Amino acid sequence: MSKSIELKEFLEGNTKIYYYSGKVSKSLPVFFNPNKFVERWITVFFAKAYFEKEFVFLDALAGTGIKALRLLTEVNKCNKAIINDINKKAFELIKKNIKINKDKLKNKIVEIYNKDANILVREITKKEKIDWIDIDPFGSPIPFLDSVSSAIASESILSVTATDCGVLIGKYPKKLYARYGIIGQKSFLAHEFGIRCLLKAVLENLMRYEKFMRVLFVFHDKHYYKVFVKVERRGWKDIYSYIDKNLGFVKVYNNDFEILPFEEIQIREGTTLKEIMGPIYIGPLFDKHLAKKIITIAKKDEIYKKIQILKNIEDEINIDTPFFFNLDLLSKELKKSSVSIKKVIELLRNNGFMACRTHFDKKGIKTNAKKKDIVELLKTL
Ligand code: SAH
Repeated sequence: MSKSIELKEFLEGNTKIYYYSGKVSKSLPVFFNPNKFVERWITVFFAKAYFEKEFVFLDALAGTGIKALRLLTEVNKCNKAIINDINKKAFELIKKNIKINKDKLKNKIVEIYNKDANILVREITKKEKIDWIDIDPFGSPIPFLDSVSSAIASESILSVTATDCGVLIGKYPKKLYARYGIIGQKSFLAHEFGIRCLLKAVLENLMRYEKFMRVLFVFHDKHYYKVFVKVERRGWKDIYSYIDKNLGFVKVYNNDFEILPFEEIQIREGTTLKEIMGPIYIGPLFDKHLAKKIITIAKKDEIYKKIQILKNIEDEINIDTPFFFNLDLLSKELKKSSVSIKKVIELLRNNGFMACRTHFDKKGIKTNAKKKDIVELLKTL
């Protein structure tokens, strides 16, 4: 072990843990990224907002166990957590972290395992009802989606992290196809395209087991995506109508885009396959009521000031249609320099359109206006 790697104490929310400090990478004895605090805080806010009854949480790739421990110690309704990691050193560290939080874990049930998550999720769901499974790998979640989709019960929550954003935005088209079965390349839709690719992968795996999902909350922060969905099991008829509404393709051209829903897909004249990307999830990204509740709860906490993305998401939930325009690209097209995004949003609103920023892109504008409407307004500036 290199000298720089040592056990350190870390306090977040109500939970203290030990972790191996050092450069954040796969080669740490136990993976932990102190800077991924947004993901952990939003997970806690989600739990507080969503669950009305007691629930059991399965942290299938737990690392230090911090997420499950935070839920147990900070969310009253979380009365049991199952914490698992395949790495023996993580397993030992989880034990230690449970011990140092012992006082706060009174009346709570904790079980720990040192197994392959793919095996554990199948075994555990045969024995008991799990209300929420979290899949938080280093890299792509694909290796875990089949087993979790097969195992997860209807009405349960599935939350999934992906850190392979480069692949998901289409920077490496062959890898995107190989891993996710999606045709796409890098475009200005970047991270929203990426998260919609991830959602398609989650949906596709669930559908194989006659399940589908309601997307409740998603976000992009730094180098990862996180999605929270509710799993549902109905008949094939419901799955077919879900496909019609929520799966489709996007045509990206001239700084503009067009959604092609599955039920309407037809290759129009003049459209080359190169411009069409997908299949992706094209449905809503937020359950509006729940998202508002999550944000209200977050606002009561000091940490809110440090979670900038929630400020944008608060507006985004009101314009929950796919994608956005990039102001820099449109200004460049019109040979205009430095147009303020605030001003353009105001202008759109004053002209009767809905418009807001998006947390997916600093220069992105979500709006129900068409490109030609924005271009007309930009010309007046
Ligand atoms: N959830 C953690 C981060 C986990 S990083 C947090 O919030 O800090 C991913 C973890 O998955 C690593 O600890 C790694 O050991 C574990 N892992 C990788 N493959 C696994 C598998 N097949 N089954 C269970 N755990 C696995």
